[in-house]
Amino acid sequence: MASAVVVGGGPAGSMAARLLAERFDVTVLDSRATSGKPVQCTGLITEETVRMSGIRPDILNTIYGAKVHFPGGGTISVSSERPKGILVDRHDFDIRMADAARDAGAEYRYSDKYCGAGILPDKVSVSSSRGKIDADLLIGADGHTSSVLRDMGCAAPRFVRGIQVDIKHRMEDQETMELRVGSVAPGFFSWEIPFGEYTRVGLCTRWSAGPPSDHLGRLLRRIGLDGKEVTSKISGKIPVGGVERTFGDRIMLIGDAAGQVKPVSGGGLYPMLKAAPYLASAAFDAMDEGDYSSVKLSAYEKGWKKEIGRELKMGCAMVRMYRRMSDEDLDRACRAADTPKMLSILDEIDLDAPSEVARKMLRHPMLAFRFLPTALRAVI
Ligand SMILES: Cc1cc2nc3c(=O)[nH]c(=O)nc-3n(C[C@H](O)[C@H](O)[C@H](O)COP(=O)(O)OP(=O)(O)OC[C@H]3O[C@@H](n4cnc5c(N)ncnc54)[C@H](O)[C@@H]3O)c2cc1C
Repeated sequence: MASAVVVGGGPAGSMAARLLAERFDVTVLDSRATSGKPVQCTGLITEETVRMSGIRPDILNTIYGAKVHFPGGGTISVSSERPKGILVDRHDFDIRMADAARDAGAEYRYSDKYCGAGILPDKVSVSSSRGKIDADLLIGADGHTSSVLRDMGCAAPRFVRGIQVDIKHRMEDQETMELRVGSVAPGFFSWEIPFGEYTRVGLCTRWSAGPPSDHLGRLLRRIGLDGKEVTSKISGKIPVGGVERTFGDRIMLIGDAAGQVKPVSGGGLYPMLKAAPYLASAAFDAMDEGDYSSVKLSAYEKGWKKEIGRELKMGCAMVRMYRRMSDEDLDRACRAADTPKMLSILDEIDLDAPSEVARKMLRHPMLAFRFLPTALRAVI
């Protein structure tokens, strides 16, 4: 039987392992002692993402809307009858993803670190902290600091840095999250998400903005939550902007390792779940033809880019523009958005395809015209 080594037992590695195990002998290596710890995620995903995962994770809350705060005090509220987001327990999510892969036949080797790989004509020879494994195929699902990506000779993607705390505080409105844009979280945004007696507060910032913890401290003071009991704290990096290549001879990358993250929201679970079936399909075709060359495996990248490439590209363009906007520009955009048509477009926002909002706006010349001055100021 053909074999595959998957580096990384996070959600991307587990999803790839589950699908590959249908026809491959799969070994998953993870340097951690278990999947999902430490958590580096908010856990806000859509119903569609839960459906695609094929598991039933613990749900902490369901969110139906968002209130976006602008620097000058303006706000825009969006809401819908259908859930906008599901807040899941990310540790539990990762454990269940790994269990599903094991049920499909994959073997997990924890506390086993990938150290490098030699690509030979008839196999890939993988070195790990516990020895060597020969396989037909290597999958890099080793997250944002991917060693497999580095061994392919590709540069690391650009990152934003994130920090988040859970605070013992009950938000009045349990169905709405609060987002803040502008210099409160330079280059990205901050979030306050209710889940019962607790509130998840976090933000991401561009690399050059200094330690995110300083920005979080200021945010907590501003919203009156400093000094309250903090029950958990996490930090992490999110790759934005993609990587040069997600395949090579006998190699494919998935998840953060492949830069498969929505640039606008920082969400990585939906894109990797979209990419996984293309990875499995390219692997099965390669197995059938006994050809694991990069030419053969390039079908994987063509497939996943056809599915989500446009959203990632458009998202990057929106983030580039957003990063050039001053607080005053954002306040102007807030005022320009305050029309019934624009608010109805925003109400329809899909967390899995946030850049769709820009496309919908462009279909309404009057709306595009209202935003043009602000957009021009940001790009010139
Ligand atoms: C603050 C923050 C908030 C976020 N919020 C959300 C959110 O709300 N919704 C959402 O969809 N996404 C969110 N994300 C992004 C999401 O967490 C990632 O996109 C997702 O975890 C990527 O999954 P992955 O399996 O590719 O990588 P990871 O989850 O990072 O898993 C990689 C695995 O590889 C292992 N590994 C690494 N190197 C090696 C090695 N050399 N040898 C063996 N094993 C190795 C690691 O131990 C790890 O288990 C957030 C990220 C951050 C930082």
